[in-house]
Amino acid sequence: MFLIRYDAHKAALYREKLIRQVQADVRDCYQCGNCSASCPAAFAFDYVPNQVMRMLQVGLVEKVLDSTAIQLCVQCLTCTARCPRNIDIAGIFEDLRTIATAQERDVPEHANTFNKAFMASLARYGQLPELYFMALFYLGTMNPKMAMADAPLALPMVMKGKMQVLPRKAKGAGEVSRIYKKTMEKARAREKAVAEAAPRVAGGSAGTRSSLEEAPR
Ligand code: SF4
Ligand code: SF4
Repeated sequence: MFLIRYDAHKAALYREKLIRQVQADVRDCYQCGNCSASCPAAFAFDYVPNQVMRMLQVGLVEKVLDSTAIQLCVQCLTCTARCPRNIDIAGIFEDLRTIATAQERDVPEHANTFNKAFMASLARYGQLPELYFMALFYLGTMNPKMAMADAPLALPMVMKGKMQVLPRKAKGAGEVSRIYKKTMEKARAREKAVAEAAPRVAGGSAGTRSSLEEAPR
């Protein structure tokens, strides 16, 4: 049996390679704007997808890694499906988010709370019971004003049966939960390895975000 070790130095090199790959991937973009026009989350981005593509083409990688766009992308893949140049924009956003997270860059307010609530809901029910998930999220933010402001958006969806009121477990929920726990154990072990190796890595760029505590269950 192989023992796979996490090497922080190699991980940093891998991230540099990934950035070069991303810059190569965006070369073919001719700024038609289809990706931005189809993106359901673009209204919340600081830079819309075609702007991100252009920024990557001209080397503004640091600015993109600090952008809210890569953090707020919901990975719906619409941009990728509609790009006439076959650029995997969603995949690029995901790669960049992975790098930004590993480099401990700032994430938009409540993004970690959102991620934890999302993962906790999936781990428990094997699917996403929307109201349960949103309740967990608002509890985590401790911001009742935000919940009140969003409630009018949820009510019509509940009335039309578009949102599950009572959460139900999906078939295979136990398996999802087991995978989640195993993944979290591995992530914690990896974080520990990175923390131990960090002083040996120049610039400390190999760190990972320190919020790997298990999502509330
Ligand atoms: S859809 Fe493709 S070619 Fe058009 S702007 Fe977006 S990435 Fe560039
Ligand atoms: S994958 Fe992300 S960037 Fe692409 S359309 Fe969906 S939300 Fe927008």
